[in-house]
Parts: sequence; structure tokens; C-alpha cells
Amino acid sequence: MNPHTLLRNVFGYDEFRPLQQEIINRTLAGKDSFVLMPTGGGKSMCFQIPALCFDGITIIVSPLISLMKDQVQALQSNGVKADFFNSSISPQAENDVIARAINGEIKLLYLSPEKLISVSNSWLKKLNIKLVAIDEAHCVSMWGHDFRPGYTKLKAFRNSLPEVPFMALTATADKSARIDIEKQLGLKDSKLFISSFDRKNLSIEVRGQVPKKYKLQEIGRFVDQKKNESGIIYCLSRKNTEEVADYLKSYGHSVAYYHAGMNPEDREQVQTAFIHDDTKIIVATIAFGMGIDKSNVRWVIHYNLPKNLEGYYQEIGRAGRDGLPSETRLYYNMSDFVMYSQFADDGANSTMQKEKLNRMLQFAEAKSCRRRILLSYFGEHLTKDCGNCDVCDNPPKDFDGTVLAQKALSGIARMKEKEGITMLINVLRGSNNAEVHAGGYSQIKTYGVGKDISYIDWRDYIIQLANQGLIEIMYSEGSALKISPIGWKVLKGQQSIKLTLPIHAEEKISRKPKVMKMADEEEANTDLFTELKKLRSFISKEKNVPAYVIFSDKSLKQMAIDMPVTENQFLGISGVGMNKMEQYGEEFMEVIRKFKTLAKPKKTPTILDTFVMYKEGLTPEEIAAKRDLQITTIYSHLSQLYAEGREVELEKLVSKVVVDKVRVAFNQLDRAIALKPIFEMLNEEVSYGEIRMSLTLILKNE
Ligand code: ADP
Ligand code: ZN
Repeated sequence: MNPHTLLRNVFGYDEFRPLQQEIINRTLAGKDSFVLMPTGGGKSMCFQIPALCFDGITIIVSPLISLMKDQVQALQSNGVKADFFNSSISPQAENDVIARAINGEIKLLYLSPEKLISVSNSWLKKLNIKLVAIDEAHCVSMWGHDFRPGYTKLKAFRNSLPEVPFMALTATADKSARIDIEKQLGLKDSKLFISSFDRKNLSIEVRGQVPKKYKLQEIGRFVDQKKNESGIIYCLSRKNTEEVADYLKSYGHSVAYYHAGMNPEDREQVQTAFIHDDTKIIVATIAFGMGIDKSNVRWVIHYNLPKNLEGYYQEIGRAGRDGLPSETRLYYNMSDFVMYSQFADDGANSTMQKEKLNRMLQFAEAKSCRRRILLSYFGEHLTKDCGNCDVCDNPPKDFDGTVLAQKALSGIARMKEKEGITMLINVLRGSNNAEVHAGGYSQIKTYGVGKDISYIDWRDYIIQLANQGLIEIMYSEGSALKISPIGWKVLKGQQSIKLTLPIHAEEKISRKPKVMKMADEEEANTDLFTELKKLRSFISKEKNVPAYVIFSDKSLKQMAIDMPVTENQFLGISGVGMNKMEQYGEEFMEVIRKFKTLAKPKKTPTILDTFVMYKEGLTPEEIAAKRDLQITTIYSHLSQLYAEGREVELEKLVSKVVVDKVRVAFNQLDRAIALKPIFEMLNEEVSYGEIRMSLTLILKNE
């Protein structure tokens, strides 16, 4: 089959994304490639399709067990023969995989670099290797933060297979890192493919200088609006992860924390629960996320300033891999910056790290389109503002801030430049606080001159003054504020300055997804979407695979819009290939059909015919016989008529005992409107027709 047919039949997608086709063609021609695409960009397809075209095996080197497992499950659910090795499988299972690989029964085999090297002189020699893909290729570079020694031995392996095309794939590598990676892996005359790093579906928002108490409240409100959606909160310290998780838990959210100080079993468990949608929110140190391939993470929050833009972009990139609109929010405080600067002082590469940290801070403090800044850092230049970041949504409003600045500056001067920001605000606001009195500050002239401005706004203004260089924050002197030469000028009225109005989270124009409307601008029916998700969750637990391995949120959304009820229509859904159609099509279409009938009952003639005969006093069996229809169909008609409020005595057709049984099963199954799971839960003892009628009675009479 040709690549495009494979894309359709196996993966259920209509079109290649930019560059995929070129990369595939080059690989099929036996040449090396270097693929640089953002997370979620569709790198895997670049080797998966050639792997299916070649009449041999493709080896994929991958650094993380969880990642391998996910990819293999996803491939298997598309009917592709894929397998993997990891340290946890038994020798017997290992032998079985080896035997199948040698027999040509595996098309894609995933291995860790260490494993690959250890077997490269034994059974690996017996395989008919046609392609080698090296995923997360930046792990070979000693300069990067993910350096993995095993990767450095891959060059010898590459040299042992001179005729086989190699493909290096990664989402992070600047130019010097790229050259290093190519050299370290021994790629030959490889061609570089870089796709756009713009992830249009991610909104970007930054919240600066929010005190901890408010930060937690804001996050609380944020997640309140995100019920049932998965998200990640990144924190700097382990302690923070636990605090934030506890806070959210106390408000009833489904949340867990995750950090490197936990034992591996606990971490594994937290991760699995997240992947399976059992835990909605993870509060984690940056140790979390690299190994997960969950496509429906809907939001990411940074609780602290990240160390550099590379890390930040990678972390927000874990949201919205399915292409649906997703939100990201970054909180930062100067204290994060100071702490990191100190770390950087101690560490290696200190100058470079500090430089990166400064860029990060500049991004956070910027007053122009954030996406433009971010992408230009990665060498991509947008020609227009993005319209999907906080600055684009709420362009800064300037005003003459000279008088306001003078109030603050004179306060600092009168307190002899000995106090920090909190004391200054308390004095300006005329607070009755004991410390203010103790310092004798209630006597000074500026006491209470800034009553009309809230604490949080004062804080914002003072930080702006610091950013404009009027004030210096002396971290070495307990964060005392000092006035700079320009500050003195402003205070003396020799210079004026502009400030921007603070924007509060609640006042912000809410960001409705403008960029990412579904195909024909139709809204998905959320009730149906919920039903489809329930069925997916049921199947995912039954098969013990992550929900998105069955169908992505994107596929389910499209189902909720298009409402396919025939196999052909179902295959038209993006992400539905032949194998998934055969495995799950009927169950999902059943939910859709059911939904259609429950949602808007249509009086098609055929149903009316049934109704007429029923009114004439015929039994369902008699109607079925007379009309040459299945009895289940008649029950279905009668249920529909009943749901519409017609005079049908459904209660007489199904016993109360049966209805009660169905109710128990239905509730246990999370009230998913799907006949098959109920049928199975009731040991196949209650017929579909009876289940159908029971559900109608349950739903209609509650
Ligand atoms: P990466 O490895 O680059 O992070 P993936 O290979 O996991 O990204 O792909 C991200 C998502 O995009 C997956 O759900 C994948 O199935 C989907 N995808 C890949 N190629 C296409 C395509 N041509 N059309 C639609 N979806 C695609
Ligand atoms: Zn923007």
C-alpha cells in the first residue's frame, strides 16, 4: 500500500501534515533524516508509515519505558504489529518477542538504547532491519539536560548498518545541538526537516507578581471552570506540589502530586491514574510529563517561573496534543528569579544559564504579543500578532504615572530606603498595622496618601517602577527598596513616566477559542460527547489501555458533531482507521443512535406504523411478525414512542425486577448509555430489547 492509503486505512487521517510526506519519501529512498518538530507535531508518523511499507522490521530507540508502552498500545489498537522491550518483562516474554521479531511477525520494535547495545551482537543480527528511528535524539547530546549515556553508543550501531536509513527525531535542539546530534549518531548526509513550532491551539497567559494567597485562589477558580478536564500544574519545589495539591483537594478536586522524592511505585500509580483520566489534575515538579503521551491535557499552569524558554515551551506543549484549544498560564514572582539566579551561580555553564533565565524573565514581563516573542526565540518570525495570548487580548493601557510614582518614591525616601515592598504599601495605604506604628511610619507625610489604590495594584505599580529602573530591589538587604538616579529625577519632578493599568484575572476578556473551530464551525453536542467519553472510559478500563489509545478527544468531538451511524460515515471521522472501526465502531454508533432517538424523537412512518398496530392491541411479537422486523426493533420503536410521551404502556412490557437490575448496572457503569456493557454486566441474561426499554423507563421517570 502506498503511504497515503496507509494513512487513511490504518490511522484514519485524510491528509499528511506539512513535511510528513517528504520525510516518508526520503526514508523510503533509503536516506537519513533529522526531524525537528514540536511535541504533538506528528513525528511518529514519519517512521511508522515507512515501517509499514518496508518488508522488514523497523527499530525504534526510545529513552522511556512509559513512552514506548503508549506508542505500542496505540499502534496495536490500529492493528499494527508492534512490540517493545523493557526491563520489566519476563525472560519468557522476552524470548517470545525475539522469536516473533526473527520470524518477521513484528513490524515495529521499540527498545531502550542500553537494551539495543546489549543485544546488537546477538539476536539483533538475525533481524531484517530496514529502518532505525532514534526518538528523543537530543538525549545523545551531553550539552542538553536530558543526556543519556546509552545514546552515545548508537554510532557504532549505525556504522554496522551502512545501507539502512536512520532517522533522528526530537522536539528540542538549537543549531549547535543539531550539529552535535548528527555527529554523535553518525548520520550520513542527513536532511534536516524543521516544522513550525507554533502551536496555535495553545493560548498563552502570564500572571506576574501575584502573592501566594491570591495565586492559590486564582488557580482554584481556574480549575473550577475546568471540571472534568485534565491539567498539569508545574511547581519548583516538592513542598509546593504537596501544598497546591492539598489546597485543591480541600475544594474537592480530583488531584494528586508527583515529584522525584516519591517512590517509583507511587509515581507510576499517579501517572497511570492521570493517563486513564481517573485523576484530573497533577501538581508536579518538572520530573513529570516527559514520559507521557496523553493527548487530551487541556491546560498547563506554571506555579513558578521556569528556568528557560526551552523548558517552558516543552512543558506547555504537553497541553493540547490533540490539536484542540488548550490553555496555559504562567505565574512568576521576582523571588523565583532570584532563587534561580543563585542556583545558576553555583552550577556549571553559569553564564549561559543566567542568560537563558534573563530571556525567560523578559518574556514574562513583556508587553507585546507573547507568541511572537516565544517563536522568535526559536528562530521563527510571525508577521502578525497571534490574537491568542493575554497581551493580544488585553493590550496594555498607558497613563501618566508620574504622581503615583512620586508618592511611592517619597515613601521610600522617608523610610530611609530601609524597608521592603510590603511595608511601603502598608504605609501608602495608611494601614493600622503594628509594624507600621513601631517603625514610626504613621507619622510620616506619605502615610495614607495611596488609600484609594488596592494592595495588589500598588504591588503591580511598584514592580513596574522597578522594571523601569526607578527603584532597585536589594535582595542582599532583605529586599529593601532603593531609589535609583532616574528615580530621584522623577521624584524631583524633572522627568515624567508612564505606567500601565494592572489587569486582574477576573476582568480579563475571556479567551474563547477563535483559532480552532471544528471543521464546519458547528458546536459539538456536549451531552453526546460526554456519553461517548463514558463509553471510552469503560472500554479503556476493560482493556487496561489509556483512553486516548481508543479514540482521541478530537475524534469523539467530531463524532458528537457528525453523528455517524453507518460504517462509512464512521470511517469518515478523523482518527478512525479500519481496525478501530471494526473493534469499536458498533458500540460507539450504538451510543450515537440511542442519543439521536432520545434527543429528538422523530416520528418516522415506520415507528408510526408500529404505534398504529400497538393501538389496535397487537403484542410486540405479533407486530414483529406482521411487519417482518426484529423484535428488538419493535421494542426500540415502542421505547421511542414512550419517550415522546405517546400512550405506550412500556411498564407492562418489561418487569420491574428487570428494570431494577438494569438500573443497578447502568449506575455502576457511570450511567453510560450503551447497551453492550450493560448486557455484559448482567451476564447476557437480559435481552437488548429489555435493556433498551428499561433505560427509557429509567431516564424518562427520574
Ligand atoms: P510527536 O511524536 O511529534 O509529539 P505524535 O506523533 O504523537 O507527535 O502525534 C501527535 C498526534 O497527531 C497523534 O495523535 C497523531 O496520531 C496525530 N497525527 C499525526 N499525523 C497526523 C496527520 N497527518 N493527521 C492527523 N493527525 C495526525
Ligand atoms: Zn499574541
